Amino acid sequence: MNITDIKSFIPPIRTLMGPGPSDVHPRVLQAMARPTIGHLDPAFIDMMDEIKVLLHYAFQTQNALTLPISAPGSAGMETCFVNLVEPGDKVIVCQNGVFGGRMKENVERTGGIAVVIADEWGTAVDPNRLEDTLKAHPDTKIVAFVHAETSTGVKSDAKTLGEIAHRYHCITIVDAVTSLGGIPLKVDEWQIDAIYSGSQKCLSCTPGLSPVSFNERAVEKIKQRQTKVQSWFLDLNLVMGYWGSSAKRTYHHTAPINVLYGLHEALIMLKEEGLENAWARHERHYQALRQGIENLGLTFKVKESERLPQLNAITVPAGIDEAEVRQRLLNEYHLEIGAGLGNLAGQIWRIGLMGYACNLKNVWYCVEALKEILSKIK
Ligand SMILES: *Cc1c(COP(=O)(O)O)cnc(C)c1O
Repeated sequence: MNITDIKSFIPPIRTLMGPGPSDVHPRVLQAMARPTIGHLDPAFIDMMDEIKVLLHYAFQTQNALTLPISAPGSAGMETCFVNLVEPGDKVIVCQNGVFGGRMKENVERTGGIAVVIADEWGTAVDPNRLEDTLKAHPDTKIVAFVHAETSTGVKSDAKTLGEIAHRYHCITIVDAVTSLGGIPLKVDEWQIDAIYSGSQKCLSCTPGLSPVSFNERAVEKIKQRQTKVQSWFLDLNLVMGYWGSSAKRTYHHTAPINVLYGLHEALIMLKEEGLENAWARHERHYQALRQGIENLGLTFKVKESERLPQLNAITVPAGIDEAEVRQRLLNEYHLEIGAGLGNLAGQIWRIGLMGYACNLKNVWYCVEALKEILSKIK
């Protein structure tokens, strides 16, 4: 490539119906194009405070320690693990997909002892197995699980899993990257201790931010630490000097100003729509997609009661090259859907209906496009 040939990047217009990022609302993109100001400018600090209030609503929590980490969902995951897990802590990880595997990695890299409960991919985390494992490991400090497993399209029962963990005096770390804004999630009512999410799935924002929230019990565990958090960037004691409520904020890092404008706008839109209405919209359009998919003779990988409306795992029919279908959707229809990951690679397509992308037009477009391609290659 000759450097003089490189021109401004004009991305193609796509419809994003994969596992994220999902389509970003124009209002969010417009917000992000507003002028950058200093990150300690009083006007910016007021906006940071508003983001916290809006996140309280989105998470349904009053947790004081609620903020967006300045990096994608994976950084929210690490924030939870590096702050809460101390060397030697035993952590039960319920793994039913790719993201549970990353939780285990996080536990081990923080010097914790991971006890993995491996549930079958494509099924929900089994509460009974969690209880049995807690009985067998009474010295467990933390239970971690994924609420909405994007790799398989499965929803687990966060409320019940949390209740069991608390009966055994454990705190919970919950991955809500794909659930926030898409399915019911009630942090305070369900007594979730530590939770992280992402901006680019059901919030209709761009990638790059990870909203997190910690309750008093989690904050207490962090305060009791005998060792320093090994990540300087993600150490909540330091981050709070920047995002905390005191009038005197100290420089920690430079927040990604314009992405935060975008999250602020996205969260206002969520409030305008109403959380319950957003959940209902995801459910309604999933039902429409399901009709269309079943009319094509295709089937869902996950049983109905455990399906995520915002991420649909569709079984690839025998004899069909799943990659060719995705490629043609992208090339001929500018439509992106996801492939299977890990154990399910080659076996499923993942059709996302997340945030702004979750609308009836997209449902019809996707079903029609699939129909045309499948009829051509059969
Ligand atoms: C997307 C996703 C992540 C990772 O988020 P990134 O923003 O890609 O770092 C973690 N967990 C789940 C369940 C996800 O869907």
